[in-house]
Amino acid sequence: MIEEYEDITLKEGSEQTDDLTRLSDSQQAYLKEVNVPSEDWAKMTDEQKSDHLDVVQARIEELKVDNLEKVSSTNLLSPEMIEDLKRRLEAPNDMVQIEQVSDVLANCEEIKFENWQHLERSEKVDVLNQLETKIASIEHRPPCPITAKLRPGLWGGYNPITKTIDINRDYIDKSGKDYYFYSEIVDTLVHEGRHAYQDYNVNERIVHPRHSEVESWSDTMAGGKWGYWGDCSSELGQRLYEQQSVEIDARNFAADVISRMEDKIEDGSSHTMAKSISFEGSNDSRDIAKSELLSELSSNHIYPGTVYTDNLWGGLDSFSGNRVRDAINRARDNGSISDSTYKHLIDKLKQACHHQA
Ligand SMILES: [Zn+2]
Repeated sequence: MIEEYEDITLKEGSEQTDDLTRLSDSQQAYLKEVNVPSEDWAKMTDEQKSDHLDVVQARIEELKVDNLEKVSSTNLLSPEMIEDLKRRLEAPNDMVQIEQVSDVLANCEEIKFENWQHLERSEKVDVLNQLETKIASIEHRPPCPITAKLRPGLWGGYNPITKTIDINRDYIDKSGKDYYFYSEIVDTLVHEGRHAYQDYNVNERIVHPRHSEVESWSDTMAGGKWGYWGDCSSELGQRLYEQQSVEIDARNFAADVISRMEDKIEDGSSHTMAKSISFEGSNDSRDIAKSELLSELSSNHIYPGTVYTDNLWGGLDSFSGNRVRDAINRARDNGSISDSTYKHLIDKLKQACHHQA
């Protein structure tokens, strides 16, 4: 992490002024006023340091410094101060974020399916907002208000203009009864939050430790240099949409968080969401999941009728996926399968279908 910064350190006294990598002279002077030399910094208590960093941070915000590198690439502030400042301003690396976000989810009682089922829609939205506030603080970005909106055919979306996250109201309602929708809501919360993080890094301030990733996000964000906005009306359009760096990153991040969250939920039951979310899966893995699913359905006396293979993605096509989901839900409503079998079959179904998030 630190080596990255050294690579781009400008030579002292360099006359070259590049606004992208350097602070202006007046900005430098303003920051230099709050420097504390190393010897004095070492003598300060943690509380004193923290108070002083409040002042430094306020100046950085006031100056609209969008990239901490601009501060650390100069010797305006003593190296120990810079280290402490980075720790405060820079987000943890992805592995740490994944650990911390999955902790937040695993430790939230309300988000557990057993409890989630009994919440009203407004209570569900409150829980999602509380979680988003915690996730945002881990990611060192401002929290986005979450609203339940009618968004036919879409799980949800991050709006970079209003800085809000919308989640499909119908799906929130269905998530109380249907584990398939429930697990997608959790996935969507983390996925859209990651888009907010990408947007914050590209357009507000770089807090992500790997700057090269931020550059690749900026290439595809909002159409990016390809001018591609996500026309998913054709198969090619759908594939292009999914291959954008911001989408790959958001899917992987959410999948990793959910996988760690499941590891941490220690209820011993087969409470596992589909680990290989169908995006990750290949056509082969969806085909395998499909045949396993069909044999498990019949051993549980669940008969969905004729089902069809998805010629493009492998596994079940979306018509058949819906039909199977209805059949599994009916079996659960009739009490003919246990809760853990229900969750297992829904997970298997997710592995057998390609779907859009
Ligand atoms: Zn997305």
